[in-house]
Amino acid sequence: MTTRLMAPPLSRNAIEKFANYVRKELGIGKDLYVPIISIVEHIIPQIDDTFQIDTPYENEMLGEYANYCPQTNTLSIRQDVYLAACNDDPRQRFTIAHELGHYFMHDEITNFSRCPSNAYIPSYRDPEWQANVFASSFLMPKDLIRGMSASEISTSCKTSLQSAEIALKYA
Ligand SMILES: [Zn+2]
Repeated sequence: MTTRLMAPPLSRNAIEKFANYVRKELGIGKDLYVPIISIVEHIIPQIDDTFQIDTPYENEMLGEYANYCPQTNTLSIRQDVYLAACNDDPRQRFTIAHELGHYFMHDEITNFSRCPSNAYIPSYRDPEWQANVFASSFLMPKDLIRGMSASEISTSCKTSLQSAEIALKYA
């Protein structure tokens, strides 16, 4: 039987607040542009000395763009995804922000419950939903994007137009 993980519940509002707190702690509180590569390469290693980053080749990643392993405190980013993010590719910046959501919120995997893969998991307990809300709030905090158009957000925050439109819906 395959299983899925269920995280402790977190509301959208709680995740938005938490993302703002993380931004402040990382020193990017009011910046529209989040230097995502510098954060994973330099800023997090300064505050967490067991954190590791790895950039494996595509054939080592089993179809994933990136993942975070809490047991080894390692963020693995597929090499081409990493390089694209270095060039401000909006999709891959979001991919890395999503993994940072797992890093910041899901390091205590022991809090998770395991349930059958066909079980209903409400979105607020789904670790993937939580990581996506974190990524969106981290890259496009609603206090900063309110009043902007989706294309202005996409240009300033280096996010995709689609993710900017979604962020605006909740701003
Ligand atoms: Zn994920």
